Amino acid sequence: MSAEAPSAQAADLASYVCSHVLDRSRPVLLVIREYDGDWIAACGGDDHEQSSESWFVVGWGHVLEWNPAVGDIETLERGEEAERSAVTAPWVVSRLSWCNL
Ligand SMILES: [Zn+2]
Repeated sequence: MSAEAPSAQAADLASYVCSHVLDRSRPVLLVIREYDGDWIAACGGDDHEQSSESWFVVGWGHVLEWNPAVGDIETLERGEEAERSAVTAPWVVSRLSWCNL
């Protein structure tokens, strides 16, 4: 096993995922670290309801387990997001521009 395993502390964090990431029908293509430190992992699609029924809380460790590439962006700072166009594409990190967070 790798000595670089994510810290238990990070794996215990709660994160928000969309229904597609939860049922693993789509890969994670968008990860957001909110200003309060919460993680959001989504498929990047624009077909989500803006209601709480589309979003679920799971341990961050599960997200990493389902999508190991997400481990590449665990260094994301608060207020940053990482996006990729496909699972084979590199992550592109940018500052959150939304003013309503
Ligand atoms: Zn989704």
